[in-house]
Amino acid sequence: MIRNHDAASSILAIGFKFQGMKQMQMSTHFLIGILIAKLFSYIPPTFPIAVTIILIAVLAVIAHYLLDCIAISTYHPYKAHWDDNFFKIFHILYTYGLSVFIFIWFFKDYWWVMLFSILPDIIDWYILRLIFHKEALVHPSIDRVRDALFSWLPDLKEKKWAIINEFILAGASGISIILL
Ligand SMILES: [Zn+2]
Repeated sequence: MIRNHDAASSILAIGFKFQGMKQMQMSTHFLIGILIAKLFSYIPPTFPIAVTIILIAVLAVIAHYLLDCIAISTYHPYKAHWDDNFFKIFHILYTYGLSVFIFIWFFKDYWWVMLFSILPDIIDWYILRLIFHKEALVHPSIDRVRDALFSWLPDLKEKKWAIINEFILAGASGISIILL
């Protein structure tokens, strides 16, 4: 008989089978994308709306690059540790739970920027790897940018306490979104 935690692990394992581990969590990508869009709402409408949307979309993708680069200094183990409750709980609550909550909560006004904020993941992990069984296209270029520009960052991927670094980033973004 399949026990509950085995079933939960299996569902998470399916997600991770297609996803790379050197990247920021979806919740953080969503929050930074929404923050970029919110900041733009304070800029006087100097550009036509279409240009503004394109600018926000491009910045959301660039932000994805930067976040995945600095993910090296956050808790992202090189291999999934399904036997570790900390790993499981963190991913159930933060990676999946909070991402779904943010996506639903901000869907009405920000669904499009949230999609752009995870566009590289959609292309690599879902379209290329999941549907076409091909290798990632965008993330290898993110790895090169990280090696070229962010090699000075400490590798904290196996350190559990390094979730704090991601929480500070996500928390600051979340608070800014609420206050703006
Ligand atoms: Zn990514």
